[in-house]
Amino acid sequence: MSAARYAVFGQPIAHSQSPHIHAAFARAQGIALDYRAIEASPQEFAAALEAFAAEGGVGANVTLPHKEAAFALCATTTSRAHRAGAVNTLLRKGDGWHGDNTDGIGLVRDLTGRHGLDLRGRRVLLLGAGGAARGIAPALLDAGILELVVANRSPARADALVDAMAEPGRAISAYWEDLREQGDFELVINATSAGRDKDAAFQLPLSLVNSLTTAVDLNYGGAAIAFLAWARAAGCRNSFDGLGMLVEQAAESFRLWHGVRPDTDAVYAELRERASTLVTAD
Ligand code: NDP
Repeated sequence: MSAARYAVFGQPIAHSQSPHIHAAFARAQGIALDYRAIEASPQEFAAALEAFAAEGGVGANVTLPHKEAAFALCATTTSRAHRAGAVNTLLRKGDGWHGDNTDGIGLVRDLTGRHGLDLRGRRVLLLGAGGAARGIAPALLDAGILELVVANRSPARADALVDAMAEPGRAISAYWEDLREQGDFELVINATSAGRDKDAAFQLPLSLVNSLTTAVDLNYGGAAIAFLAWARAAGCRNSFDGLGMLVEQAAESFRLWHGVRPDTDAVYAELRERASTLVTAD
């Protein structure tokens, strides 16, 4: 019997680590797997996904820039995907796609499990309001944080994210240029793609940081350099890149497809070894 077919869709997709991560999980679990990277533009995405299903594709990951489009294409979604309005994991059910979003649980597992952070009662600043930010905001609220402040370059997108959370008073938006007035935070998360620009620099007020602040960049490799440099200069207690989240969100997708959650430590250690050579892509 041939291996079940899975794929990751995105643009660009060449640097995605998802095929490598899922192959490693499958080997460790003794599962036969055919998992490929498929490049598709926004115009091509829906047709490419249908062609994949017609050829026997049973599951897919979706990354930038297709997460919101994938949500719109789903016949059914989990409640966390619905709240996010964005899907990163697809499972074929009958003639349609069932959509989930594992980005948020992936980040929370990395922070609480791998890094031992207690998120309960924390003030959290979320920079960015794109697909990734929409995925992680509900998971942070569910993890028991005290308050979520969302700031985005385009303020309307931050407002829309906060409205979708439907937690007035607990999830609020702020103008990027007014961040100085927001006080300090125990967790500052960069969910923007600004660091993909090789000349990127983060101009953020030092007043955001206190002696307990952890800074997390969802990016990894070169795209995480600028934000993590700001975090160190600002005196954050800890700073992490997005590699742990990458591995944990993949493990949650793997569980949805195969019914078993793989151990993530070996793959994480292997990616960490070559982190400086990786290009953020998932
Ligand atoms: P989107 O394209 O949906 O959103 C991009 C976000 O970045 C928007 O908020 C956008 O603001 C902001 N942005 C872009 N350029 C700048 C800039 N120069 N200055 C300030 N803000 C900027 O991307 P995603 O949300 O899907 O992904 C965000 C990043 O997180 C990506 O680099 C992605 O690879 C990474 N990621 C990592 C994951 C992991 O597992 N480690 C998982 C998911 C994502 P505006 O709305 O104003 O355009």
